[in-house]
Amino acid sequence: MSQVYERVALIGLGLIAGSMGLAMKAHGLAGEVVGTARSKETRDVAVGLGLCDRVTETAAEAVKDADLIVLAVPVGAMGPLAAEIAPHLKPGATVTDVGSVKKNVVEAVAPHLPESVHFVPGHPLAGTEHSGPHAGFATLFENRWCLLITDAGCDADAVAKLRTLWEGMGANVEEMDADHHDLVLAVTSHTPHLIAYTMVGVADDLRRVTDSEVIKYSAAGFRDFTRIAASDPTMWRDVFLTNKEATLEILGRFTEELFALQRAIRTGDGEQLFDYFTRTRAIRRGIIEAGQDTEAPDFGRGTSRK
Ligand code: NAP
Repeated sequence: MSQVYERVALIGLGLIAGSMGLAMKAHGLAGEVVGTARSKETRDVAVGLGLCDRVTETAAEAVKDADLIVLAVPVGAMGPLAAEIAPHLKPGATVTDVGSVKKNVVEAVAPHLPESVHFVPGHPLAGTEHSGPHAGFATLFENRWCLLITDAGCDADAVAKLRTLWEGMGANVEEMDADHHDLVLAVTSHTPHLIAYTMVGVADDLRRVTDSEVIKYSAAGFRDFTRIAASDPTMWRDVFLTNKEATLEILGRFTEELFALQRAIRTGDGEQLFDYFTRTRAIRRGIIEAGQDTEAPDFGRGTSRK
């Protein structure tokens, strides 16, 4: 693949930005990748692991002369970051982000950006429960979706170029509006994470089941919950604070369904339970057929991640 951008600035050097840096270098998509993170420790690790070609101490320095700027910090930090870099952006540059929530990010970032730059929000639907610069790997985005938010009148050339970059890193790209994105993600990611956090919390509270039993017998479904519930607390706090509306809507529906299943169990309605589980099984098969997961029996346990 040939070079898409001459200079890319990665702001934040954790799982997502680190993986982007490695993927861009592996595929020759950027002439130079400059990175920055707030802590010296992360910057040093990033250089050591070759996540970028060089690091700068400040975001203002990193964005200087960059053609593409990627905001890869927790969603709640995007607005202040945009305000910090705005005066230093090169006219004609594209600013994108990788935040897991889109409407809130658009509202927080767009007002700070000068008219001379293009803003194309994005969200790669790829990740693991690991975070920080050590967590990145070059193949993270392969055969994963990346959603670009183009409803706010984005420049067509800027969108096309960013699409080429994501495709070059192995992703399938689709365009969507911010509201729809947030609803879809509330169903497919945000609410499931909240349920996993809750289930692990319940097991921890339940003194009748000892800690050692929870750990010893966790293969029976609980282990997958613990993997999800190990996700970064800062990132997920920000996701729920900023995708409030859609998450609460889906949680309301979830609670209704849960009560219906609770009643079916109490009244011994086996037919309702069977029909429900048959429907959900078909959804799982659909995900595998779409190539978004495998039949491997160790699903989600980390061995097939890289
Ligand atoms: P991460 O591994 O925890 O890395 C976060 C980076 O942001 C670190 O370099 C950190 O710097 C920096 N940072 C943290 N708080 C900051 C603040 N208040 N101000 C400035 N910089 C700050 O996170 P990640 O998983 O790459 O996530 C980054 C973004 O991608 C988030 O918006 C998240 O919603 C989104 N995303 C995540 C996933 C996923 O599964 N993890 C998937 C798709 C999208 P230091 O290391 O110096 O502290």
